[in-house]
Amino acid sequence: MADRITSNEKGQLSVPAVPIIPFIIGDGIGPDIWKASVRVFDHAIEKAYVGKRRVEWKEILAGQKAYDTIGEWLPDESISAMRNYVVSIKGPLTTPVGGGIRSLNVAIRQALDLYVCQRPLSWIKGVPSPVKHPGDVDMIIFRENTEDIYAGIEFEAGSEAVKKLTSILMDTFAIDYPFKKETAIGIKPVSKAGSVRLIRAAIEYAIQHGLPSVSLVHKGNIMKYTEGAFKNWGYELAEEVYPDKVFTWNQWEKLKVEAGESAANDALKAAEEEGRVIIKDVIADNFLQQILLNPKDYAVIATLNLNGDYISDALAAIVGGIGIAPGANINYSTGHAVFEATHGTAPRFADTDTMNPSSVILSGVMMFDYLGWREVSEVIKTALRKTINEKRVTVDFFNQMSDATLLKTSEFADAIIGNMAHQQK
Ligand code: NAD
Repeated sequence: MADRITSNEKGQLSVPAVPIIPFIIGDGIGPDIWKASVRVFDHAIEKAYVGKRRVEWKEILAGQKAYDTIGEWLPDESISAMRNYVVSIKGPLTTPVGGGIRSLNVAIRQALDLYVCQRPLSWIKGVPSPVKHPGDVDMIIFRENTEDIYAGIEFEAGSEAVKKLTSILMDTFAIDYPFKKETAIGIKPVSKAGSVRLIRAAIEYAIQHGLPSVSLVHKGNIMKYTEGAFKNWGYELAEEVYPDKVFTWNQWEKLKVEAGESAANDALKAAEEEGRVIIKDVIADNFLQQILLNPKDYAVIATLNLNGDYISDALAAIVGGIGIAPGANINYSTGHAVFEATHGTAPRFADTDTMNPSSVILSGVMMFDYLGWREVSEVIKTALRKTINEKRVTVDFFNQMSDATLLKTSEFADAIIGNMAHQQK
C-alpha cells in the first residue's frame, strides 16, 4: 500500500516500499519534460526492484497551471503536501509578473526552509562542452539558499526608506560614504547559524562520500563581516566538530607560523594520506578562474547564495548547459527536499516535444539517491550515458554534435528506456 515518507528529528528518512511523492508538472516545457522523465523513473524502478517497489506520483498544483485552475500561483495546499510528504519533485515554473510573489521557487524554499541548494556537476562522455577537458569537472555545490542579498531586503532609489537609512548610517554609525541622490540600497544578511548549517551539510556530504575536500568560496577580502565571517565560521565548525576527520588551511597557516612551512606541508600531506577532508577557501572571482584552469582541485563547494548562483551556471555551462544540470533544495535537519530542473520554462518551446529532459531526469537520480534507492539511480545513469554516447540526443545537443540522431523529448525517453533493457543487475 502506498504510504508517506517520514523523517525523524535528525532529518533521517524512512521510505516505504511504495512512497507517495508529490510532483509539480511545471509550466511551458514542463509537461513535455515531466511526461518523459516519469516514464524513465518508473521503468528504472521496475528494472531495479521488479515489482517490489514503486512510486505513487501525486500531482500538486503550482505556477501557471495553478493560477489558471484555481486562481492562485502557489496554493497553501501544495506547500502543505510538500511538507507532509517530505520529498517532492518539480518542473520549471513561470515567475509571475507583478502581484507580490517575487519567485515561486524562492517562496517554496522559504516556506520549507530548504537551506541547501545542491547542484552536482559532472560531465557525461559525449555531451558537447565549450572546454577541452570537461571530464575534469566533478563537483557538488552546496549553495546557501535562504540568506544573503537574496533575502530581498531592498529599497528603491529616492524612497523615504533610503533617506532614513542613509541618515542613520551617516549620523548614528558615522559611515563616511558619499551617498548620491538616486541611490538604491540592498541589505545582505549572513548569519552564523545559517552559514554553519550549510557548511555542516557540505562537510558531512564529503565525509560520507569519501570526497577529498570542501572549498569555502567567498568574497571575504571585500565583505569581511558577511562573506569573511562565512569563511571563518566554516573553519571554526570544521575544527571544533570534526577534529579527527578534517584538516583545514587555517590549521596549515597556524602550523606554518608555529613550526615552519615544511612542517605545515608535512601535516597537510599526512592528512591527505589519512583520507581526511581538506577544508580550504577560495575567493569567488579566483574560483571562477580555477574552475576553468584547475577544476580537478575541487570536489565539494560551500558558498553563499549569490556566489552560488553564478558558480552553478558557470559550471553547468562547462558540463553541458542547463538542459542537463540537475538540482535539489534540501533541509538536512528536517529531511524536507524538493528536487528540480535548473532551467526555466522556455515558453517558446512549450508543447513542441523537443527540449532536453535530462535536467529533470538527473534531478530524479539525485532524489532516488536521497531516498536510498541507489539501484534506480544506477540504472538511469547507465542508460542515459549510453544514449548520449550513441549520439541519440535532443536538439540542444544535436546542434553541437556531428553525426548525431535528432530525437524528440519523448523519443529520448524511449531511447533511455530501451537502453535499460540489456543492463545486468
Ligand atoms: P529558460 O531556462 O526557460 O530558457 C532559456 C533558454 O534555454 C531557452 O530558450 C532554451 O533555448 C534553453 N533551454 C532551457 N531549458 C532547456 C531544455 N530543457 N532543453 C534544451 N534547452 C533548454 O530561461 P528564461 O527564458 O530566462 O525563463 C523563462 C521562464 O522560466 C521565466 O518565467 C523564468 O522566471 C522561469 N524560470 C524558472 C526556473 C525554475 O522554475 N526553476 C528557473 C529559471 C527560470
